[in-house]
Amino acid sequence: MSYDVTLIPGDGIGPELADATVQVLESTGLAFTWDRQQAGEATIEAEGTPLPDRVVESIRRTGTAIKGPITTPVGSGFRSVNVGLRQALDLYANVRPARSMAGVETRYEDVDLIIVRENTEDLYAGIEHRVGPDAAESIKIITRFASQRIARYAFEYAVRNGRRKVTAVHKANIMKLTDGLFLESCQQVAAEYEGRIAFEDRIVDNMCMQLVQKPDLYDVLVLPNLYGDIVSDLAAGLVGGLGVAPGANIGEHAAVFEAVHGSAPKYAGQNRANPTALILSGALMLRHLGETAAADRVESAVRAVLAEGRVSTPDLGGSAGTREFAAAVADRVTA
Ligand code: NAD
Repeated sequence: MSYDVTLIPGDGIGPELADATVQVLESTGLAFTWDRQQAGEATIEAEGTPLPDRVVESIRRTGTAIKGPITTPVGSGFRSVNVGLRQALDLYANVRPARSMAGVETRYEDVDLIIVRENTEDLYAGIEHRVGPDAAESIKIITRFASQRIARYAFEYAVRNGRRKVTAVHKANIMKLTDGLFLESCQQVAAEYEGRIAFEDRIVDNMCMQLVQKPDLYDVLVLPNLYGDIVSDLAAGLVGGLGVAPGANIGEHAAVFEAVHGSAPKYAGQNRANPTALILSGALMLRHLGETAAADRVESAVRAVLAEGRVSTPDLGGSAGTREFAAAVADRVTA
C-alpha cells in the first residue's frame, strides 16, 4: 500500500527542504505516491495566481499535503497562499509542537509544549476597513462553534498523546464578550474531560511572561488565532527558533504539514538551509496517518543527529549542507 500525498515544494529554500523531507520519509520504508504541485511565485507568471485550483483539488483528493514555504508577494494584491489553503480546506487547527532538543542551544533543556491555535476566525477573519482618512477598524469574530471545535481538538490531542493538561489562553478580563465566549467554550468542553485531562486558563500577557520564566509548567495550550500566532513563535524561540519548528494545519477532511519558517530567499539554492522543521513536520504527518512507529523513528533520528552535533547546518553553528543533514537523518532511520 502507498500513501497518496500532495507535495508542494514552495518558493526560496522550499524545494531543497522538500527533497530532504521526501528522502527521510521514504527512508522509513513506507511507500508514498507524491503528487507534486507547484504553487507560489512560479505559478503567478504562468497561471496568474499563486494558488491554482488544481493544488486545492489535489489536497481534497489525497487528504494530506506537505508544503514548503511560499513567498507572499508584498502589495501584489494576491491573497496569501497559506490563508487561501486554510480557508478553502477549512483547516481549523494549527498545531505547533515546541520541544527542546539536545544539540540545539537554548536557555532551557526541558520545554515540551503543544500550541493549538484556532485557525479560521478572530481578528484574522479579514474584516477590516478604513473609517475615513485617519482611522481604520478590524472586526474580531469569535463563535462558540469554532471555539468549542478547537478546544475539543486540544483535549482530544491531549488524550491521544498522553498529555496531562490543557491551558486556555485569552484576554477575557478586557474583551469580555469575544474572549469571554472563547473561555466559556473551553470551560464547557473541559467539563467533558474532567478527571482525565486537567484544565486551567491564563490571561495572554501573563502567559507570555510565564512561558519565558517557567515553560516546564505548561503542556497543551489552546488559543484564539492572533494570540496563537504570536505565542507559537515565542514557543519556537524557547526551543531553538525557526529552523527547528514544525507545524500542522488540520481540518476534518484534509491536513497540510509545513514548517513555521518562511522561504528565506537569501539562502535559496545554496544547500545551507536547515531541513529539520520540515522533516519534523513530515513526522507529524506520519503520526496523523497513524504511522506512529515510523514517526517515532524519524523524530528520534533527527534528535540523535542534532545531539551528536557532527552534522549540523550553519544556523545551528555547523557547516553541513541541507543534503548532508538529510542523508545523516535518513541513515539513522534505516540503522
Ligand atoms: P523566513 O522564515 O523566511 O526567514 C527569516 C530568517 O530566518 C531567514 O533570513 C533565515 O536567517 C532564517 N531561517 C528561516 N528558515 C530557515 C531554515 N530552514 N534554515 C536556516 N535559516 C532559516 O521569514 P521572512 O524573511 O520574514 O519571510 C520570507 C518570505 O517567506 C516572505 O515572503 C514571507 O511572506 C514568507 N513566509 C511564508 C511562510 C509559509 O509559507 N508558511 C511563513 C512565513 C513567511
